[in-house]
Amino acid sequence: MESIIAAKATDISKLERTGAHSHIRGLGLDDKLESRPNSQGMVGQLKARKAAGVIVKVIKQGKISGRAIMMAGAPGTGKTAIAMAMSQELGDVPFTSIAASEVFSLEISKTESLTQAFRRSIGVRIKEESEVIEGEVVEIQIDRSVTGVGPKTGKLTLKTTDMETIYDLGQKMITSLTKEKVMAGDVIQIDKTTGRITRLGRSFTRARDFDATGPDVKFVQCPDGELQTRKEIVHLVSLHEIDVINSRQQGFLALFSGETGEIKSEVREQINQKISEWCEEGKAEIVPGVLFIDEIHMLDMECFSFLNRALEDTMAPVVIMASNRGMSRIRGTNYQSPHGVPIDFLDRLLIISTQAYSEDDIRQILKIRCDEEEVDMTEDALAVLTKVATETSLRYAIHLISTGHLVAQKRQASKVDVVDIKRVYSLFLDEARSVQYLKDYQDEYMY
Ligand code: ATP
Repeated sequence: MESIIAAKATDISKLERTGAHSHIRGLGLDDKLESRPNSQGMVGQLKARKAAGVIVKVIKQGKISGRAIMMAGAPGTGKTAIAMAMSQELGDVPFTSIAASEVFSLEISKTESLTQAFRRSIGVRIKEESEVIEGEVVEIQIDRSVTGVGPKTGKLTLKTTDMETIYDLGQKMITSLTKEKVMAGDVIQIDKTTGRITRLGRSFTRARDFDATGPDVKFVQCPDGELQTRKEIVHLVSLHEIDVINSRQQGFLALFSGETGEIKSEVREQINQKISEWCEEGKAEIVPGVLFIDEIHMLDMECFSFLNRALEDTMAPVVIMASNRGMSRIRGTNYQSPHGVPIDFLDRLLIISTQAYSEDDIRQILKIRCDEEEVDMTEDALAVLTKVATETSLRYAIHLISTGHLVAQKRQASKVDVVDIKRVYSLFLDEARSVQYLKDYQDEYMY
């Protein structure tokens, strides 16, 4: 049973590693926010990446919240990839990604769904104090029978008031002492909650020449000593997590199942009030994050008016939307509008447009994907695959990498070659050929 679980766990990590955007590690910019041609898994799209970098910078400085950005461009031009890269660059702020169609669920209303997405993207940094003990390492001796070096017997003496805690921390402490290379005469700090040891410096009077680098340092004695201090710990949680934990019907387990249902507005009001009190008292800080909404044209008027209002809130996150549509009907109306987004809403967006890729960019992206999927491909096959991508789509060509690899393995070849690409190209249709197929054989389908 255990081995089944272990095997499954490895499979999952492999799958995650080769997800559609797993090769992306950042925006690939230099210190001056200029795009490097090929860096951090990102290729080409120089202007859009630079624009994204500028936005990341102002978000990081905490200068903007409640702004909305639109990534507009043809399918497969890297809109989602750039949004992912932005989230990587942002680091420690909440990032939520949804597809607009997810909002239309039968279980919760559209506005509740959007509210949850917003509140997932707003972080609260909560400061807490934890107790730490400080003391001076008086003496350390290493057991020579274990380490083969140093004096024969082991002895570590800490000068501190809190003997019990030190004994409780036991082995943990000794391991980190040895890792930290703490020496006699060092002043150290031990976090009571985590057992982490920090070396604060050296005391000048008691330094001895013992170096506690061996694996088996024995802790022996704690004579009375001095200090006890407090240390600040910072947690980052999202408003949505706080909502769910405090919602009586749901409880925190709902966070794992994802089935949080509707959350009462009174609960949210109370939480907002409490958090603003904490902010005033300096115990907490609001961290607006990023909400990415793909396929924005799938939203209807009600959702757009919700977004309009929600963006006015002082706690609002930065909202990045993506659309691959040109002039389209706004869902649920007969109005045509750019990207299917109402004009007045469009007017408040910063728009970043992505351009079609050059053949060379496509070749480089495909090469990166081959490396990511650990697939060896001949130069000729890569050239054919690049041609396929220019004539069909980048995403279709990316799919042919792993399938081509399977076909190559079947004929026991170590590298994917032109024949393998040709084979999978004939096995799997791209969008245009699939549409043509439907047209040719439409009489044979039900309608
Ligand atoms: P759609 O409009 O269809 O949603 P999109 O513009 O969001 O498309 P992506 O999904 O980002 O396109 O791109 C398709 C694939 O190509 C993804 O695997 C993505 O990671 C990769 N890709 C796109 N642009 C780049 C780039 N500039 N550098 C590296 N990889 C890229």
